[in-house]
Amino acid sequence: MREFTKIDILNKKIDLIKEDIQNENTIEIVWGIITLVIAGFGIILIFTGFTGLIKHQTTELEINLRKNIDLPRYYSNCQSCYIKFSPLVSYGKEKDNKNNYAFCLECYNNGCFIEPDLTFEEMKKRILKNTSSLDQKRQKEIIESFEKTVRWRKDNY
Ligand SMILES: [Zn+2]
Repeated sequence: MREFTKIDILNKKIDLIKEDIQNENTIEIVWGIITLVIAGFGIILIFTGFTGLIKHQTTELEINLRKNIDLPRYYSNCQSCYIKFSPLVSYGKEKDNKNNYAFCLECYNNGCFIEPDLTFEEMKKRILKNTSSLDQKRQKEIIESFEKTVRWRKDNY
């Protein structure tokens, strides 16, 4: 009877050790899975980041291509009076009623300038008059902006 108990206890011990080993194995497996999941996420992140980068580059390339191929070009300001285009400021119209995206409707309609004989000198006078409340430095900056427009660029003379 005593012997039996001893064996029983031994068996129990062995069982416990087995269980311990199994538990350790389970923990290892769980850790393995967690590591795999994290690694998987990492790979997915890298992959999406990479494809995102490629996509971004392609869009940029497309935009650049469009800029070069697609005419007309789009401007944020009228290239004659420098008013900022907005839903309230319409684009100029060509003879066929198509938009001219460089000039506003106040400056350009029916395929030609409203004031075709307007010189830059005259335009400058108007600018100075309209901006008389501003300091000279700001006025100079505004005139410089005008000098960069399609209509008033020096190489257009
Ligand atoms: Zn205009």
